[in-house]
Order: sequence, then structure tokens, then C-alpha cells
Amino acid sequence: MSKRAIFLDRDGVINRVIMKEGKPYSPRKLSDCRLTDGINDVLLRLKEDGFILIVVTNQPDISRGLIRWDELNSIHDLIRSELPIDDIIVCPHDNDDNCACRKPKPGMIVESARKWGIDIAGSFLFGDTWKDMGAGEKAGCTTILLDAPYNQDVKSNHRIKNISEALEIIIKKES
Ligand SMILES: [Mg+2]
Ligand SMILES: [Zn+2]
Repeated sequence: MSKRAIFLDRDGVINRVIMKEGKPYSPRKLSDCRLTDGINDVLLRLKEDGFILIVVTNQPDISRGLIRWDELNSIHDLIRSELPIDDIIVCPHDNDDNCACRKPKPGMIVESARKWGIDIAGSFLFGDTWKDMGAGEKAGCTTILLDAPYNQDVKSNHRIKNISEALEIIIKKES
């Protein structure tokens, strides 16, 4: 039986975004990083159900010189210590780098699926922006969008208002 995964966006799903003038930004310091309410319970339940939990995150602030790798890694150490995450895949590039990993390209999903032996079609992408939904759709996952003021025009397979609703979708689709 092949393994299935939940591919998770980081900012806006795992940790809260920092809103400035209606736009979401990533925390640039460990001390600014706050986990999303309820995320631990949701991930523990998915883990119990046998899903591999993989964070796939664009972090162009690395390429832009706005955060250093050691600070980013300390945020990821916090995430790993608090949540049952199996892997964290980072795209540190910006648009001009034209890499294969920056979402909405599906590179991080495709590569981590190969690494972990994951059946992408049986897996889910959970995120909060059009870039996440684009990557998930191109990779061939079922996409789940966490509703936010900045994503009202974004299309996805499912739109949820609250993180815990992801369980209803994922577990219903399974049975
Ligand atoms: Mg996000
Ligand atoms: Zn990249």
C-alpha cells in the first residue's frame, strides 16, 4: 500500500501570518512566530490516520536577504518540536531565479513525494494562497484552501473556514 501525505503550506497554515496593510507576511524572527490555533490537534489526528506530514514552503525572504538561514532554521526547529511534522521542504528562491521549486510550481511536492514514496493522487495540499493551490493542482493532489480575506478569488477543490474542517474533508474522502 503506498503512502499518502498532507502537503502543508507554512505561513498562514502552520504559523500565523503577520498582516500589514491587508497583505500577509512571513515572520522574519523566531520571536515573531506563533503557531496557528488548533493546528496541533489536526496534525496529530492526520498522523494517527497514517498520513505523512510534509511542509512545502516558499521563503523568498532568504533570496531577498530579509532573513538568514540560521533564523529560518530556528523557526523550523520550533515547528518540528511542537508539531508531528515529518519533513520541511524550503524554496529559498525568488521569481527571477526561475527555479523548479517555487510554488505555484509543483517541484517541492513532486520531489518530496519521490523521496518518501508517496502516492500524490491520494494526497492533499493544504494552503492559503493561489500559489499553493496552483502547485497542488499541477502535482495532482486534492487542494484545500483555508479561507482568508486575501484569497477570496482563489479556486480550490475545497474551501474551509476553520482548520479543523480539513479533517472532515480528508477523512470523509478516505472512507
Ligand atoms: Mg501561506
Ligand atoms: Zn525554488
